[in-house]
Amino acid sequence: MPIVDHGPRDQKRVALTFDADLTAVMRKRLLSGKVKSYYNTALIQELRALQVPATMFLTGMWMEEYPEVTRELAADPLFELGTHTYDHRAFTKHCYTLGTVPRAEMLADVQKAVKQLDALDPQATRWFRFPGGCYDGTALHELAPAGVTAVGLDVPGADGFAKSPKPIIKQVLSHVQNGSVVVLHMHGGDNAPYTDEALTPIVKELRARGFQLVTVTQLMSGNR
Ligand SMILES: [Zn+2]
Repeated sequence: MPIVDHGPRDQKRVALTFDADLTAVMRKRLLSGKVKSYYNTALIQELRALQVPATMFLTGMWMEEYPEVTRELAADPLFELGTHTYDHRAFTKHCYTLGTVPRAEMLADVQKAVKQLDALDPQATRWFRFPGGCYDGTALHELAPAGVTAVGLDVPGADGFAKSPKPIIKQVLSHVQNGSVVVLHMHGGDNAPYTDEALTPIVKELRARGFQLVTVTQLMSGNR
């Protein structure tokens, strides 16, 4: 399975990416009403208002919860969609607190999410992101037939369980460089509550520094 972590370092371009996690535990919180939504609508409105191209990695469970939103995002030329497994279990043991996909189920898990996305997005990409960014040689070997390319990162956005927008803004702006792939989250709720508040200052500062914001596809199609 091919992997890309960043784009060309000789071009002032950066890709902002947004993962839509949904685990079995998160879905329970949603169904019980403890969490109102795992779709950060304010974040998407800001991306549209600022005309920021973005690449989004959706879990299958998230697509099941938000099929109409998935269609809307797919239809927006600003955005491109990839997958983030079915239910956000990890592909290695001991990846944060995530559960683990058994080796024998790895391929089917990824294929399931790809199929779900294809049904909602005629232009679905074959970009894929590992939950928690965790993978090893076994996972890469098992997933080779899936036909997806893993998109890593070189700038973790630190928006998961953030207590305010400030550390997110600081983290992104202090680590970003030419060709960076920045990971943020679009599920909001209790898991990533300040991503939308951090977004506009990040975008304005990146543009002030002369960075062009692009999708992963655009970033990777530059000089290598
Ligand atoms: Zn994730």
